[in-house]
Amino acid sequence: AITPATFREMMRAAAGAIFAERDRLSELDGKIGDGDHGLTMEIGWKAVLSALDKVEDDATISIMCDDIASAFLESVGASAGPLYASAFQSAGRAVADRLNLDAEALVAWVEGMADGIVDRGGASAGDKTMVDAWLPAAEAARRKLGQGGSEMACLAAAAAGARIGADATKDMRSGRGRSKKLGDRSVGHIDPGAESTAVLLAAWAKTVS
Ligand code: ADP
Ligand code: MG
Ligand code: MG
Repeated sequence: AITPATFREMMRAAAGAIFAERDRLSELDGKIGDGDHGLTMEIGWKAVLSALDKVEDDATISIMCDDIASAFLESVGASAGPLYASAFQSAGRAVADRLNLDAEALVAWVEGMADGIVDRGGASAGDKTMVDAWLPAAEAARRKLGQGGSEMACLAAAAAGARIGADATKDMRSGRGRSKKLGDRSVGHIDPGAESTAVLLAAWAKTVS
């Protein structure tokens, strides 16, 4: 099971992965947005790291999620800030009664992330946003759970789903966010928020593998 200590490690790994991919994420955003997505995610995850440094040693995963949500809300002005704040709030609520995450709770947590983003941003599948990575991630995790997968297997499935989902945004036409006004010119480029979702999930899956 994923313990609070493992969860902390997962979040630190995610921050490191985002820092490593910062320029590539901003370049993607430069194609269909305002070119700052790597920077906005870096700012957010730096704030997450300092929030994690301050949480009590015995903090639950749910409490850490609330702290991460506040860090995003307070540090990031761009779209990704409130979206990830809602994601972590919702995911934290989904596992509020859990000390450790078994496979079922892990899947509920991933679904909570996806739900929070959909609730906040109102994007649907196919709008060429991070939702197009989060929804396939949650679906793949749920499918793996149905096959009796462990929390590691469910997280690996979520990462694979996010990767496939992010790649699929390349052929989509934007229906939400800054890239919407580009219309057909948004086609042909991966959505930066979907790409960063794949980066996060890959880092989490690698931490527990
Ligand atoms: P901004 O566009 O404000 O500069 P970022 O560059 O940090 O914000 O994030 C852009 C990403 O946010 C997009 O690539 C997209 O994935 C995501 N996004 C934007 N609007 C929405 C929305 N309404 N719902 C879900 N995701 C969204
Ligand atoms: Mg941007
Ligand atoms: Mg911006």
